[in-house]
Amino acid sequence: MANFLTADEHQLLTQAERHDTGGYDNWHKTPRDRPFVVDIDARPLVALINATVFGVRVYEFMAIQRPGDLLHYLWVTIIALDDEVIQSVKESVAYRNRYAFDENAPLSGLSFVEFDRCFIWQGDDTDLEDACWRRHVEQQYWRDKLSDLFSLVVTMQHRLSGMDDFLLQNEIGLIDDKKHRQDFFATVQRKCILDSHNLSVDADSSDFYTVLADMITQDDVHSVSCPFGGLTIWRILVTEQIKRSQRLGLPPDEAFPLYGPDTGLNDLPEDWGGYVHIPYEGMHDGEVVFLPGWRVFHTEKAGIDGSLAKAMRMQGCRYLFVPKSRELGDLPCATREKIGNWVLYRQNPYHQRLKGITLLDSLQVQIKEASELIASADALLITAGAGMGVDSGLPDFRGNEGFWNAYPALAKANIKFYDIASPNNFSDDPKLAWGFYGHRLQLYRNTQPHAGFSKLLKLAANKKHGYFVFTSNVDGQFQKAGFDPKRICECHGSIHHLQCQNGCLHYIWKADAFLPEVDVINCQLLNSPPQCDCCGEIARPNILMFNDFKWEDSRYRLQRQVLSEWLAQAKNVVIIELGAGKEIPTVRHYGEMLGWPLIRINPRDPDLGSSPGVSLPMGALDGLSAIFSIPGN
Ligand SMILES: [Zn+2]
Repeated sequence: MANFLTADEHQLLTQAERHDTGGYDNWHKTPRDRPFVVDIDARPLVALINATVFGVRVYEFMAIQRPGDLLHYLWVTIIALDDEVIQSVKESVAYRNRYAFDENAPLSGLSFVEFDRCFIWQGDDTDLEDACWRRHVEQQYWRDKLSDLFSLVVTMQHRLSGMDDFLLQNEIGLIDDKKHRQDFFATVQRKCILDSHNLSVDADSSDFYTVLADMITQDDVHSVSCPFGGLTIWRILVTEQIKRSQRLGLPPDEAFPLYGPDTGLNDLPEDWGGYVHIPYEGMHDGEVVFLPGWRVFHTEKAGIDGSLAKAMRMQGCRYLFVPKSRELGDLPCATREKIGNWVLYRQNPYHQRLKGITLLDSLQVQIKEASELIASADALLITAGAGMGVDSGLPDFRGNEGFWNAYPALAKANIKFYDIASPNNFSDDPKLAWGFYGHRLQLYRNTQPHAGFSKLLKLAANKKHGYFVFTSNVDGQFQKAGFDPKRICECHGSIHHLQCQNGCLHYIWKADAFLPEVDVINCQLLNSPPQCDCCGEIARPNILMFNDFKWEDSRYRLQRQVLSEWLAQAKNVVIIELGAGKEIPTVRHYGEMLGWPLIRINPRDPDLGSSPGVSLPMGALDGLSAIFSIPGN
């Protein structure tokens, strides 16, 4: 990264070029004794380019589209200029920057645009120094100069586009898709200063960065609270945030909440397409916490039965970074490790509770606890992932093997689930896209929900505040099993609904009228695909696919609204989570985020993390049957 500019390029941009307009006369034609000498260089452009290499101000740089745009990035240093003229320049600049310009400070330099504005052509009344500067900068020489500089910028833009860096490429992708958040002009006005961008990396800390990057990819880390600045730390955090956001199809701040210093960050994470909450005062919860100087740590609460969370008075904390200068010594609840300038405390795994109980016994205990939890609740939130459908005989798309078993034609063509579940296929190869989704639509229409559904419904319907379902399944099995459609929230949409592939009118309609005929062997739709009534384009399922920017989420948003209202009035909720995996953990995270007791039924990933509740390492139907076998349910 360090050598983005060649030595020659760097030299070209930073070396000042002297401009002597040849001096000027006053009205009385006295000798040319009033000098006008300035140096001009492109140091602001170097600052901009250096920032872009770190993924900062990329939009601003890529938006340089004409030689004239470069005038914002030239720097004028005054070498010799009449005192009177300097005073008038100061007054002129001060007038435009009333709150930010100190008229009494010596004038060391100005951006070209700012300087140039001080010398205005006013017809016959033009002051001589103004006329003199205007004659100078309106020469062909200047246009050629800017043109040359612009060619160099275009070369840099290409070079930047080719760099192997996640944040940078993400940013350029957003720019290409016209999805960037920042306004160019505001950015330029705000940042067109000679800021040197302190990008130095603490050499002692490379281990620390590796550890941090590994830690935050763990499944049990859902948020980070770090009241320290530091470009490299924040690049690591925001990189993970954007990756999760893309994987989960959620906005960055929902996919991976990050809490920064209450004074803000120097480099804007929005520049990278991420989002950092800046708490007004104090810190926010997180599984990973950086301990600032002003935060009290109650060491006595980190005893044998204690935890980092208790000692910090924060709910989730399990990993604590403390600056070496503040280190807390040994803590019974955690291991201690020195990494660079930090001490890392890792909370010991939570294992005390079931000590001395055999696995079989412990399972019985858990089932009983689950049953008691359900009995004590006056509202049930049922959250479900793909594992819920497996017991009804639906295929498991986990891993290429599982997926290709269900779709041999796609195996033959080496098309992965990730590739076929892409909105682009509806324009590129609609017969194939609908071959896949048409088959799934038929399959879900023909599937009978397993017995667990009806038992669960009976149980849930008897609760004082009833139930709600939150599911990533698009198969409509809950509705089919008799659950009230108004009590279901489908966070990835529904295959039983359609939308225009262009998203026109934001309209979503039922797929009932579409009866797909599919050649399963070749994964091809044989009849005509459904169409949008409005524009005639091919319609697609109203499902959130991978890299899907056209999913119509209005139906989901409405469901989510009703769910929030229901949660707000229910006082005593228990969550039953069924077959929600870690690969696309939207459902798991949603339940964990709410903080109500959680019954996690999952044969592969039963661990509860820090959530209160019970875990049953079983399939959905087995788990439900076990709970129902306890008298009282
Ligand atoms: Zn349309």
